Amino acid sequence: APWRSSMIVRTRFAPSPTGYLHVGGARTALFAWLYARHHGGQLILRIEDTDRERSTAASIDAILDGLAWLGLDYDEGPFYQSERFERYREYATRLLDEGLAYRCYCTREELEHMRVEQRARGDKPRYDGRHRNFKGTPPKGVDPVIRFKNPLEGEVVVDDIIRGRMAFANSELDDLVIVRPDGTPTYNFTVVVDDLEMEISHVIRGDDHINNTPRQINILRALGAQLPRYAHLPMILAPDGQRLSKRHGAVNVMQFRAQGYLPDALVNYLVRLGWSHGDQEIFSRAEMIELFEVAQVNRAAAAFDIEKLQWLNQHYIKAAEPVALAPLLGEQLDALGVEHREGPALAEVVRVLRERAKTLHEMAQNSVYFFREFEHYDEPAAKKFLKPGVDEIFRKLREPLAVLEPWSAAAIHETIAAAAEDMGLKLGKVAQPLRVAVSGRSFSPPIDETLALVGKERTLARLDRATAYVNQKNYQA
Ligand code: GLU
Repeated sequence: APWRSSMIVRTRFAPSPTGYLHVGGARTALFAWLYARHHGGQLILRIEDTDRERSTAASIDAILDGLAWLGLDYDEGPFYQSERFERYREYATRLLDEGLAYRCYCTREELEHMRVEQRARGDKPRYDGRHRNFKGTPPKGVDPVIRFKNPLEGEVVVDDIIRGRMAFANSELDDLVIVRPDGTPTYNFTVVVDDLEMEISHVIRGDDHINNTPRQINILRALGAQLPRYAHLPMILAPDGQRLSKRHGAVNVMQFRAQGYLPDALVNYLVRLGWSHGDQEIFSRAEMIELFEVAQVNRAAAAFDIEKLQWLNQHYIKAAEPVALAPLLGEQLDALGVEHREGPALAEVVRVLRERAKTLHEMAQNSVYFFREFEHYDEPAAKKFLKPGVDEIFRKLREPLAVLEPWSAAAIHETIAAAAEDMGLKLGKVAQPLRVAVSGRSFSPPIDETLALVGKERTLARLDRATAYVNQKNYQA
């Protein structure tokens, strides 16, 4: 049988560097990675940069950064197709020599004419093979392309691991250009040569490549190669049912990082896009590797659901060690322009805020008042809690807090509780105005923790500010 029989699993991720690493590409990379890891095989990274116009160094960097951030490591590569033109030329020459490919001297006009005539007849436009057995004198002034002699009869059967059997009639496939007039190889040809030379056993890629598969198989056969197995992944849809794209918000993997998502959360999210294991939602990497089977991937398209990603992100934020998240919170604060070197330890801030934050960006937004003065009070909060009379509560709190040592959450708690009792008020009646006074808003971590992190000096200054605010309001009223 021509299908590869070797037991060694070798998968590849073969991005075209024409943009950042997007969600779909990352999912393809993840599935290829998982398949390789599950089978103790290898993942090869191949950069398909033969399109010199559209490929950029920045995009290559973005793809490498994206893979590194997601923790998807590879065993070989990156190989760059742009550095392998010599190899492609050799294979093209070999096919020519063996009569399995031929030079085609059709001019642009001739091909256009062919198309027009076919359309007029109601036929599908395709190259008609007119130079397949050309023996004459090549016309002058035409740089020929090289075309692959696709078999004329029979069919190509692909036993796709996900989609099952797919058959393509050879009569539907025309003689593909494998080398352009300028001598550069075409996409389908470079993929074939590389899958062959890199001994790829499993091609795992998006289903937008299904139509390339029979063509690639025919060329692989002509080269006497053992065929890889193919698994075509269903596409990812946006909630509106369209193919997921930029229009739907973040699709760039590094944009998720900027928005405060953790790579573990995104990887966990991606693994469930088209694959499941019972109703399990949370997978450690070790579990994913153990449980993932490409044959279990759905045929149907998967829909992207940002709320589920947020839910997973929250899970991983809660599960992480606060010290591990501290530098990431620091980056988020930097992005907000918040100076955080003087203020509470970031790990402490993470510890008190992680229960509620869906992203580290949100956590940073909710922690600004620990590091600098807030501009104004949240309006409904001020209306509700900074009312006439609370200046008295603030005065009663300020005195014991001003002399409190040490400035710890436990000591703060006792102080507030004692002051409340003194005033004959429930703790909440004291804590809510105090919360608005020190944070500017009506929600924050437990009040004692909040004050502990805000610090003594800032707490006292904010009590004064809130007192002045209330008095001012009294005066106006
Ligand atoms: N370079 C192709 C792409 O980025 C992938 C080719 C393949 O996996 O065979 O879509």
